[in-house]
Amino acid sequence: MPGQKLHDLDHLLSGQRKFFNSGVTLDINFRLDALKKLKRVLQEQTDEIADALAVDLKKPLFETYASETGFVIKEINFALKNLPKWAKRKRVPNILPTFPSRNHVINEPYGLALIMGPWNYPFQLSLAPLVGAVAAGNCCLVKPSEIAEKSSALIAKIINDTFDHNYIAAVEGGVEVAGELLESRFDKIFFTGSPAVGKIVMEKAAQNLADVTLELGGKSPCIVESSVDTSKAAKRILFGKFFNAGQTCITPDYVLVHREVKEKLVQAMLSWLDHFYGADPKTSPDYGRIINQKHFNRLKNYLADGTVIAGGEYDETDLYLAPTILEVDDLDKPIMQEEIFGPILPVIEFSDLEQVEEIIGRNPNPLALYIFSSDRASIERLTTRIPFGGGCINDTVIYTYNHHLPFGGRGSSGMGKYHGKYSFEVFSHQKAIMSRRFYLDPAMIYPPYKSIHPLLKKFLFR
Ligand code: NAD
Repeated sequence: MPGQKLHDLDHLLSGQRKFFNSGVTLDINFRLDALKKLKRVLQEQTDEIADALAVDLKKPLFETYASETGFVIKEINFALKNLPKWAKRKRVPNILPTFPSRNHVINEPYGLALIMGPWNYPFQLSLAPLVGAVAAGNCCLVKPSEIAEKSSALIAKIINDTFDHNYIAAVEGGVEVAGELLESRFDKIFFTGSPAVGKIVMEKAAQNLADVTLELGGKSPCIVESSVDTSKAAKRILFGKFFNAGQTCITPDYVLVHREVKEKLVQAMLSWLDHFYGADPKTSPDYGRIINQKHFNRLKNYLADGTVIAGGEYDETDLYLAPTILEVDDLDKPIMQEEIFGPILPVIEFSDLEQVEEIIGRNPNPLALYIFSSDRASIERLTTRIPFGGGCINDTVIYTYNHHLPFGGRGSSGMGKYHGKYSFEVFSHQKAIMSRRFYLDPAMIYPPYKSIHPLLKKFLFR
């Protein structure tokens, strides 16, 4: 909480534990009320949220509405509509050996959940998981990223002014605070951030055997085949790449383009760049800034890893880095070894799908994969043979907007999934209940077992 001292943490958590154990959060109406409260405060604070994001990232208003405030409200609305159905115990079929019985699955809240967020979509990535945690009936502690300073303060204020801190609270702070939180006992940890910190989180969670969800990053490839309309592809790739100035976990990290259409794609990109941001993107209200000096320096160094085709200009005092397209042919350069997480788009040509698979295999299990193609066989091959979190055919980041689709990575890009109903499930334990009667109780299944052996062989080993 703002001003919350960490020596209060034990007190805060024991308050939350007591609150959870009281059973108040098991009531669906209580959860619906909490979601309505969160929705109301987000609606009331729309301008303050936009102001905070303008300071932290110079985030364009459209991006703020679509990917932060509006995104969370969309998740809340979906949960408000469906929670009574999701939370119902589900009857599942019986099978012959357990006849007669009634079988159910109960979605049970874990208890105390810790949500740790990153800085790039500070509201979405702290509050969308919170929607799931609340819907599932957990108490919750949220720690937004200290790097998006204004947003962190506002998230903490929104949460702490809206909820009883014994139910939901926010704590601000950096690595030290995060470290102390991870030493505490939570029943569920939901972490969004880098793979490096994800490993630390998992190690800490193991000490209490807390359930963990990791939403991480990586290098998400974008493949452009020769069968596609290069202008339409270029438009959608650039939209996904330069949204939030490339600081998006699912942004197309690099483009692999078939050599036959490389030149056409690059020309189309140049034309769309001009259309999107004008001759000087620095003056465009629709283009953001790099979060801080450290990331700015990191990104600036990548410019030497290829030939600049477009952009490349920067202004350190304004943390401005132009939307940049870089021709890259040395795959051993740092830009092709690390997640870029900024507005630089390497373009690499390929001649066949084996080559595509080999290049992607250098950074396996990307969070997202995008394929621009009209060739069914290639789409089938790439979507089934390459392991990745999720993705799009003929578009980029937009797939995460559909809450009917699970969102999450695998391996180095994460574990677990959320959005929509999956958010409810990821914060719930699925408890199995078999309810039996005392009739039909064949003596042969109890020791001594001998008489059942022939029967088992006949039926179980079929
Ligand atoms: P980060 O891992 O540096 O920080 C995330 C959170 O971890 C913050 O709250 C931070 O305070 C905390 N933290 C940092 N160092 C820590 C430590 N040593 N011990 C404990 N906690 C620590 O990530 P970031 O820079 O905020 O975000 C960028 C990364 O997040 C990128 O890799 C990006 O791809 C990924 N990301 C993933 C998603 C997703 O949904 N999969 C979304 C956004 C960002």
